[in-house]
Amino acid sequence: MAKSAIKNRIAVVGGGISGLMATLKICEAGGEVDLFSYCPPKRSHSLCAQGGMNACMNTKGEGDTTYIHFDDTVYGGDFLADQVAVKGMCEAAPGIVEMFDRMGVPFTRTAEGVLDLRNFGGQKKKRTVFAGSTTGQQLLYALDEQVRKWESKGQVHPYIFWEFIKIIKNKEGVCRGMVAQNMNSMEIKAFREDAVILATGGPGQIFGLCTASTICNGSAVGAVYAQGAHIGNPEFIQIHPTAIPGTDKNRLMSEACRGEGGRIWVYKDGKPWYFLEEKYPDYGNLVPRDIASREIFDVCVNQGLGVDGENKVYLDLSHIPADYLERKLGGILEMYSEFMGQDPRKVPMTIYPSVHYSMGGIWVDRKHNTNIPGLMASGECDYQYHGANRLGANSLLSAAYSGTIVGPVAMEWATRCNKLREMEEWLNRKAKGETLMPAQEKALQKPSDEDLNLYEESLKESRSLRMTMQPKIEADGTLTQPTVDKNSLYALRLEMGSELTDAELEAARQECVKEFEDIIQMNGKENAHELHQELGRLMNKYVTIERVNKDLDFCFGEVKKILARWNDIGVTDHGHWANQEAMFVRQLRNMILYALVITKAARMRDESRGAHFKREFPNRDDEHFMKITIADYDPKSEEPVITYEDFDHSLIKPRARTYGSK
Ligand SMILES: Cc1cc2nc3c(=O)[nH]c(=O)nc-3n(C[C@H](O)[C@H](O)[C@H](O)COP(=O)(O)OP(=O)(O)OC[C@H]3O[C@@H](n4cnc5c(N)ncnc54)[C@H](O)[C@@H]3O)c2cc1C
Repeated sequence: MAKSAIKNRIAVVGGGISGLMATLKICEAGGEVDLFSYCPPKRSHSLCAQGGMNACMNTKGEGDTTYIHFDDTVYGGDFLADQVAVKGMCEAAPGIVEMFDRMGVPFTRTAEGVLDLRNFGGQKKKRTVFAGSTTGQQLLYALDEQVRKWESKGQVHPYIFWEFIKIIKNKEGVCRGMVAQNMNSMEIKAFREDAVILATGGPGQIFGLCTASTICNGSAVGAVYAQGAHIGNPEFIQIHPTAIPGTDKNRLMSEACRGEGGRIWVYKDGKPWYFLEEKYPDYGNLVPRDIASREIFDVCVNQGLGVDGENKVYLDLSHIPADYLERKLGGILEMYSEFMGQDPRKVPMTIYPSVHYSMGGIWVDRKHNTNIPGLMASGECDYQYHGANRLGANSLLSAAYSGTIVGPVAMEWATRCNKLREMEEWLNRKAKGETLMPAQEKALQKPSDEDLNLYEESLKESRSLRMTMQPKIEADGTLTQPTVDKNSLYALRLEMGSELTDAELEAARQECVKEFEDIIQMNGKENAHELHQELGRLMNKYVTIERVNKDLDFCFGEVKKILARWNDIGVTDHGHWANQEAMFVRQLRNMILYALVITKAARMRDESRGAHFKREFPNRDDEHFMKITIADYDPKSEEPVITYEDFDHSLIKPRARTYGSK
C-alpha cells in the first residue's frame, strides 16, 4: 500500500515505566510520539521502585502458576478488580520479564544463573523478580535506552520539562489534542494529536507526607476529571506499613525487607512481641500492606505499645547475615543508614505506615480507553488492576503491562484518524474539481462507492451522520441495522468527529495563557505551600488507615474551604521564566479537586474492604458495595458526583479475605 503522506501523532504524557512502554509499542507499530514529562524520563518516579516485579517464573520449583498469581491478586484486592483484566495481566507477566531480560535488565540471579525470586506480601510462593533493591531504576533505564533508539530515528519528539495542562476536545467531544507549558520559558503551546495517553503516575502529594516523589501530584488526573473523565475507585489509597517517617517526606523501606526475612515487633510486657506472626501464622510478616498497616496502627495508637511511646515499630533485619543483606537489599540499607544514622545490619529499624500508592485513578476499559474518546490512561494514574488493595510488586507489572496494551490501542485509533483524514482530503480535492491520479486516489484512500453514496444521500436529505448510522424503521415496523463498515467514512466521522481547526487550537491555548497570567497576578493573603500542607494534614489525618464518617464529612467541608481559599492565594514570583510557584498554584487546584473526590468516595462507601476501613462498618458488604465507584465532576458545585457500576467478577468466586487470621 502506498505510504500515507499524512502523519499521525500520539501524545504520551509521562516518561515513567508505563509511558515509556506505551511509547515503545507505538514506535514499533510505526507511529510517532510527542513525549511529555516534568523531568527526564530516567528521573521519573518509577526510578524509586525498590523491591521488584511479580511474574510467575517459577524458577525456584515451588509450583507457582499464573493462576495462583491471578488468585492472589484478586484476593489481595478484596475482589474489587475486573477479573478478566487481572487475568490478562498475570498471564502476560512472564513474557514481560523475558522482554526486560532481553533488553539487558540486570536481574539478580541464583548461583545456577536463573532468575532469582523473592517473597512479597500476600503471596505464599516466591514470585518477585528483582534487580538488587533498585528494580524500578533498572527497568526504567532499559526502557529509556529503547525509546532513545526511536528518538534517534525521528519517531519520538521529547517535550521534557513540559507540563501537561489539559486536553482539547473537538465539537463532538473527542479528545484531539492537548495544551502543555514549557517549564523554563513558560511558553504555552497547543498540540494537535490523534490520541492522548496519560501515564502520569500516582497522586501521593495530595496527602503531603508520603513515600512518593514530589512530582506525583495527581494534577493531570484532576485536570481531566474536571474536563469530564470518570475517576474509578478513588477512595482506595494504599498505606504502606514500613516507611521512615520524615518531616519533608516519608522514605519507604521496601516490602522486600519483609520478603527477605525482616520481622516486625514491639516490646510487650518487657519481651519482643511479633504481633503479625502471632495473629497471621500462615503469612506472618508477609500479610498484605493494608492488614500490616492496620495492625501497626492498632498496636501504636490503640494499645500504646509503639517504640518509646511513639508511633513507631521495629522492622528487624539484624538476625540476617550481613553479606546476604548487602546482596539483596544493599540500596535500601544504605538509605536507612544515610537518613537515620544507624546500621540496620546491626540494630532494628524503626518504621511507621505511610501513604504510598493509589489503587484508584482514571477509569479505563480493558483497552485503557477512558470515557472520553481519544483519551487513554495507563500506569498508576489508571484504576484498573488492583481493586481495593494492591499487592507489593504488582505495580511495576501493571505499569509495564498497561503500557503494552495502551500503545497499540492508541496506534489503532490514530490509524483510523489518519484514514478519515485521507478520505476527507480526497473529498476536498474532488470538490475542488481536482483530477486525481490512481496512485493519489490510493494514497489518499478514496472512500468506497457505498460510502460515497451514503454521503451523497445524507447531503440530499440533510441527515446528520448519527442518523445515518441509526437503525431504520421498515414499513412493517421492524428495525434494520445499517451495515456500515467500521472503517467507512461515516463510521470514522461519527467516532472521531472533526479535526481541530487552527482557531480551536489557538482558543484552547489562549484559555490556558489567560489562566496562567491570572495566577501570576494573584495578590491574595494565602500562601500556596501552606494551603498544600493543610490539605495534606487533613487528608493524612482523616482519609488514611481508619476512616470515620463524621470525620470524613468534616474533612470534606475543610477541603472545600481550602478550594475557596485557593482564590485568595498571593504569588510572589510574577516572572515569565521558570516560574515554579505559578505552576504549583495551578497544580494545587487540581489536587484539591482530586482530594474532594477521594474524601467523598470514602464517605459514601459504608463497608470495609481492602485499604478502606471503617470501624462503623467493619465487614465487607458485597450486597451493596461489590461495585466500582465512579466519580464525575459537577462544574456547578465543583464537587464529585458518586455512582456505582457493576464489573466482571465471574472467574473467582468472592470469599472472605482473612489471610488465616487467628
Ligand atoms: C518508594 C516506592 C517504591 C516502590 N517500589 C515498588 C516495587 O518494588 N514494586 C512495584 O511493583 N511497585 C513499586 N512502587 C510503585 C511503582 O513504583 C509505581 O506505581 C510505578 O512506578 C508507576 O509508574 P508510572 O509509569 O505509572 O508512573 P511514574 O513512574 O510516576 O511516571 C509518571 C510520569 O508522568 C510525568 N508527569 C506527571 N504529571 C505530569 C504532567 N502534568 N505533565 C507532564 N508530565 C507529567 C512525570 O514526569 C513522570 O515521567 C513503589 C512506589 C514507591 C513510592
